Amino acid sequence: MILIVGGAGYIGAHINKQLNNNGYETIVFDNLSYGHEDFVKWGIFERGDLGNINEIRKIFQKYPITAVMQFAAFTYVGESVEDPQKYYINNVCNTLNLIKVMLEFDVKTLVFSSTCATYGNPIEIPITETHPQNPISPYGYGKLMVETILSDYSNAYNLRYVSLRYFNAAGADPDSEIGELHNPETHLIPLILDAASGKRSDIKIFGTDYDTPDGTCVRDYIHVTDLADAHLKALQYLENGGKSDYFNLGNGNGFSVLEVIEKAREITRKEINAVEDKRRHGDPPILIGSSDKVRNILKWEPKYHDLSQIVETAWKWHKKISNKF
Ligand code: UDP
Repeated sequence: MILIVGGAGYIGAHINKQLNNNGYETIVFDNLSYGHEDFVKWGIFERGDLGNINEIRKIFQKYPITAVMQFAAFTYVGESVEDPQKYYINNVCNTLNLIKVMLEFDVKTLVFSSTCATYGNPIEIPITETHPQNPISPYGYGKLMVETILSDYSNAYNLRYVSLRYFNAAGADPDSEIGELHNPETHLIPLILDAASGKRSDIKIFGTDYDTPDGTCVRDYIHVTDLADAHLKALQYLENGGKSDYFNLGNGNGFSVLEVIEKAREITRKEINAVEDKRRHGDPPILIGSSDKVRNILKWEPKYHDLSQIVETAWKWHKKISNKF
């Protein structure tokens, strides 16, 4: 059985669906601090907290776990600057608890949810896996620390892991069974859709004077179902004896904030009031990831690489959960 830690969250829930659709049995372990119990539509749900190592041990005693996927982490970059302790304890220490128990129970296969925030401000675009890692936030540092620890554990204890460095996860399950639902919401696409449906009056554009073609930030948006498929392939790679490795997960192309807003206007057929605002602290102008390595080694091919598909699935989900429709 596969243990999906943080499987009640946006990304973990999509991976849970993907694994179940591919014949895996799963257990979701989540403290529901940010996740949603009704996102656990597949497999077994066990509520618990990585901060309590005995709760983790109980899960490993109860189920024949063969591999673990770790998504349980706080993800607000700005908050990580304000309250780094919250991030280092949860994202680093609690992950170490999880791996400690894995080793106690001789479970040595792990897929880890990492981030392009480990690179910091890019010195070249597209960002490849060999780009220097110089994070600019405690969030990014915490993820890099875990990557470093995993590398040491891999050498010392034979732990085999794949670390997946996400660019901008977006979109929703094409069947709308699950989707993006954060509280508070800070991500561009759900906020634009809130503006489209009247849940908010406008979308603020954080900076229009960047050194980019239209002055707004460019990001590499990757559909969450493609992301889920990459996790499935990473798991199968490790099950087939693959060595520890790390991969970027992006589409290799970027869209500006204005382009995303324009695409949302086209798909929703709503006006969407966009208001120019000042830059958000810590936003690099352009983040685009090379996906050559994951394509070559894991044979991953994104199916929803078109921005239209990303916004369409997000909009379908938004309409489903919004009472206004
Ligand atoms: N953004 C924006 N207005 C918003 C939220 C985000 O202009 O209300 C911009 C943000 O500055 C960034 C891009 O949209 O350039 C994507 O931001 P998001 O928070 O979705 O993801 P991030 O790139 O920070 O992981």
